[in-house]
Amino acid sequence: MTTLDLDVLIIGGGIAGLWLQNRLHNQGYATLLVEADTLGGKQSVCSQGIIHGGTKYALNGMLTQAANAIAAMPGRWQAALRGEGDVDLRAARQLSDAHYMWSSGSLGGKLTSFFASKALRGRVDTPEADKPAIFQDPAFRGSLYRLNEIVLDVPSVLRALRLPGRQLRARAGDNLIFSDGVWTLTDGDLQIRARRTVLTAGEGTEALTRQLGLDIPMQRRPLQMVMAKHRYPHPIYAHCIGASSKPLATITTHPHQDGSQVWYIGGEVAESGVERSSTEQIAHAKEVVGKLLPWVDLGEAEWATLSINRAEPRQSGLVRPDTAYAQAVGDTIVCWPTKLALSADLSDQVLAMLPAPGGDAITLPAGLPEPDVSLPIWDQLL
Ligand code: FAD
Repeated sequence: MTTLDLDVLIIGGGIAGLWLQNRLHNQGYATLLVEADTLGGKQSVCSQGIIHGGTKYALNGMLTQAANAIAAMPGRWQAALRGEGDVDLRAARQLSDAHYMWSSGSLGGKLTSFFASKALRGRVDTPEADKPAIFQDPAFRGSLYRLNEIVLDVPSVLRALRLPGRQLRARAGDNLIFSDGVWTLTDGDLQIRARRTVLTAGEGTEALTRQLGLDIPMQRRPLQMVMAKHRYPHPIYAHCIGASSKPLATITTHPHQDGSQVWYIGGEVAESGVERSSTEQIAHAKEVVGKLLPWVDLGEAEWATLSINRAEPRQSGLVRPDTAYAQAVGDTIVCWPTKLALSADLSDQVLAMLPAPGGDAITLPAGLPEPDVSLPIWDQLL
């Protein structure tokens, strides 16, 4: 029987666990990450890849706590993409150097002056000369804002954060069991002793906290996303805003393995579409896109929907949490990033809770399974 002595065992290999493991590894911590299925295969690979700077949360005309907490995130990720950050994302692909916000009509005066205000300086500007091709159509009228938020190809981010020899495919609570301070792999020759265990299992964290006797409630906020695969030439990365403080639709564009593009549609379309059947949701999305972008012909697009929950620490009224969440209970740290973008912030919080590194770097014994990186969700569904 091999026994691994770790500084930190991380359970769950979505963006939160991967970012944290890479950061700790770079700082000399002995870590192992355990993933039940594929790396990033739940929420992370289903995300739109927008590294928010918070402007979307300012749509009610105020800089909320959420908008301020997240403001530093684009800079943190850009440093990682240059190889100068907490983790090395030089192998990851940036899909767009900006995310946009447009309104099909003219914005209310209050919002227009808020966008022009000092509070948002550096976060928002109005592109006169270099509008993205899709907004250069003469039929486009309304206001367009460029946000200092990048959009990433998430599958390439996940691949960049893979650490061969330090990631194990096993399901905690199932074939990896905790008893008397030791984790045992029931179908392999392995025991793990860890000074700290970090739960970054997304929706799976709820069952794990129960099994470990921790009282940290979770909430699920469901979405029904829509995707369309087509040959329309121009990409779009934008929130369309209307009268509400939530975007009517948030559309990002992703490369499909067959060379076509996939438009991935979230925002109000996805939030309000949870009760619709897939067929009804596709019909609704076609209508919304037709109204918001009437000059765009998606022609013979192939459509699909995806029902998925966002897993977060429970808030009263099921509202969106403002920040990343990390809570230590004894030797266990329970985490939800609440946003892909906030994984960097989450790793700051966890690092502040850890003692200095003490163990020797480990490598998994030969023959134990390592998790693959998830396939892009559009390649799975379309
Ligand atoms: P997950 O990615 O869900 O990873 C958890 C992992 O734990 C999974 O791989 C799972 O297999 C594993 N696991 C579960 N149970 C166990 C167990 N018992 N043992 C071992 N492993 C286990 N955020 C943004 O910042 N920008 C966006 O554009 C954006 N778009 C989004 C779009 C959608 C449709 C959704 C749903 C979310 C979006 N988000 C976005 C939010 C973001 O995706 C999530 O906050 C983030 O991906 C959560 O990461 P995670 O690592 O906590 O969870």
